[in-house]
Amino acid sequence: MRYIYENGNRNNDQPKGTNNSKYFKWMRSILKRSLEIGKVELPICSIILDKRGRCIGRGVNRRNINKDPLGHAEIMALRQASLIKNDWRFNECIIITNLEPCTMCASALIQARMGKVVFGAYDKKRGGLGGSIDLSKHKSSHHKMEIIGGILEDECSQVLKLWFKKLRTQK
Ligand SMILES: [Zn+2]
Repeated sequence: MRYIYENGNRNNDQPKGTNNSKYFKWMRSILKRSLEIGKVELPICSIILDKRGRCIGRGVNRRNINKDPLGHAEIMALRQASLIKNDWRFNECIIITNLEPCTMCASALIQARMGKVVFGAYDKKRGGLGGSIDLSKHKSSHHKMEIIGGILEDECSQVLKLWFKKLRTQK
């Protein structure tokens, strides 16, 4: 399992003294919800927690349902949480999602001044926070986010792998 320390350094071993297990419970509920929507959409779900740890936004991938190219889980969660928060700034919030945000969503999270991004599986092809490119460290990024990748990485990868396998056999 790969981890990104909260200071942004990567390592192949789980760093001692970090407590990423506190995200396991949320990640498991995200995976459960992902499987439910996985019948019609890519199984991705995101939640946003406020500074007290309350869930203020949840989104699933709705690209096909809404015929919306921006209909990624992260964007859906941001829209809901903005309404609840009545603000577009998320400095004190955490977003948790099962797949590394793509470049569009990574940019949206930077624009939203998200405090912390926690994700499960890395996306080596399209990931915008380290898998393919790390936009959070790009010179265009005016906001520094904490990024923690690899939470329940194997389980998260497995859900996506199985979904794509099923898609291929249906064709
Ligand atoms: Zn996205």
